[in-house]
Amino acid sequence: MFKTSSGRSTLRTLTLILVLLVLLPAIFYSAYEIGALTQSENLIERIYRQQLDAALFSLNQYAWDIADRWASDVDRIVRGARSSSRPLSQHAFNSFLSSNRGIHALFVGDTAATTFIVVSSSRPDSARRKHTDSEVRSLIRSQHAVVERLVRLQSTGYRKIEGVAIGQGTPGQSTGLLFLIEIAPGRLLLSGILLDAESFVLDVLRRKLDEAAEGEFLLSVVRKADNRQVYATGPLTPGEERQAKDLWLFPDYSLGIRLKGQTIEEIVRERFYRNLSLLMVLDIMIVIGVWFVYRTVRREMELSQLKSDFVSNVSHELRTPLALIRMFGETLEMGRVPGEEKKQEYYATIVRETERLTGLVNNILNFSRMESGKKEYQFSSVDLNGVVQKVLSSYQSHLEHLGFGLKTGIAPALPSILADAEAVSEALLNVMDNAIKFSNDNKTITIRTGLTDRTVYIEVEDHGIGIPPEEQSKIFEKFYRVSSGLVHDIRGSGLGLTLVRHIMDAHKGEISVHSRVGEGSTFRLSFPIRS
Ligand code: ADP
Repeated sequence: MFKTSSGRSTLRTLTLILVLLVLLPAIFYSAYEIGALTQSENLIERIYRQQLDAALFSLNQYAWDIADRWASDVDRIVRGARSSSRPLSQHAFNSFLSSNRGIHALFVGDTAATTFIVVSSSRPDSARRKHTDSEVRSLIRSQHAVVERLVRLQSTGYRKIEGVAIGQGTPGQSTGLLFLIEIAPGRLLLSGILLDAESFVLDVLRRKLDEAAEGEFLLSVVRKADNRQVYATGPLTPGEERQAKDLWLFPDYSLGIRLKGQTIEEIVRERFYRNLSLLMVLDIMIVIGVWFVYRTVRREMELSQLKSDFVSNVSHELRTPLALIRMFGETLEMGRVPGEEKKQEYYATIVRETERLTGLVNNILNFSRMESGKKEYQFSSVDLNGVVQKVLSSYQSHLEHLGFGLKTGIAPALPSILADAEAVSEALLNVMDNAIKFSNDNKTITIRTGLTDRTVYIEVEDHGIGIPPEEQSKIFEKFYRVSSGLVHDIRGSGLGLTLVRHIMDAHKGEISVHSRVGEGSTFRLSFPIRS
């Protein structure tokens, strides 16, 4: 659209300013906000992990203390029996077993599982299951690697207790807590306390779990193999824990945690998405605003470009007929014209050019009236065919003079319309004037009138240069002239069709165009039939 490079560079500067001042800060701010929101999400995640770690640590520590106390008791009983040279028997452990709920049985023997004794609790609630010698033997053998590790640690002076699962996969089955007893330097016995992990959790850890939850969190112990919940401090569906970690003593069980009610994460996430959508709406509004400003400024610039074109076009339009009138006038004044016929030709040219000037000045005046809203129409009942015929009769000689062949197709007996006859003539003249201007070799113009369901129309068809499809909606804008191709050399103000459209609007009618480049154009002025 912009023909001058200054127009283009102004638009580029404007785009740059808009992008730098409005879009970039908006994008930066959005990116910052999204970053901040992700950060707070991470922070919440960290708080959870810390809380879980703390709860887990205190639980583990508690379970560990109990296990350690048990191991010390067994250690003491075994040493006591040895020092009094009594053989180890069920009897020696009776009071230990009866005072510690949850323990089913225990065994003491050598680390290779050749000789050992198994003692079972006589408490009715814990004696759920009797352990046979062969079972214990196969347990010790299967935990060969664990035993070796215990031996290694023991050599550094550290007694460790290892929790191992027995009879994995079956609920109510036992867990073994394995540890070593050093009866003499370098002489080690292997002992194992057999208990049901789940009853341990329910009987011993339960209170501790409730304490650790502190009313704010939900804690649960879940068996990992089948994700079955053993205990939860409140309603916590398995799978909804936010974090989970293994229990030291019972490696096949895990402890899970989440916040009571709506979790912080959910709150944060909700806030995150709400803020994000608000940001998006804001960004979209900014983009629309920027686009609007850009478009308005661009339009204004296009219009000022069109106006300056208009001034140069009109000056050109005025200069040519004025020069002709002056030349012929001077020639006549000097009496240098030879024959009467030639004189008449000169007079006719002067009159024609004066008419052109009048037409142009009228167009400009009408346009300015129209722009200021002062253009008035005198409506009366009008016969469209009559208007067309009147225009044609006064225009025919002009057309013939220019070498145009005129074809007409006047529809008989059109219903009359409510119109301003003079304005309709003016519209028709403008369209015909264009048909003449934009025709080249094929100088045939067809004028038709006709009737559709609701309208009567006048059509002006030419076989001229035609209008590219993308320009067809623009040619009715003020000052607009197609700038491509041949049109460059054809004079005009860019006001003709603007006036026609204004006149048609005033009549509640419309102007339409059907055109193909290189084949010609047909303009149709349709007027509503009076109901
Ligand atoms: P002007 O004719 O003074 O340039 P108009 O408003 O009458 O202004 O027309 C606007 C533009 O539409 C013209 O400059 C021309 O490019 C195009 N146009 C109008 N009528 C025709 C036609 N019959 N054939 C080809 N182009 C046309």
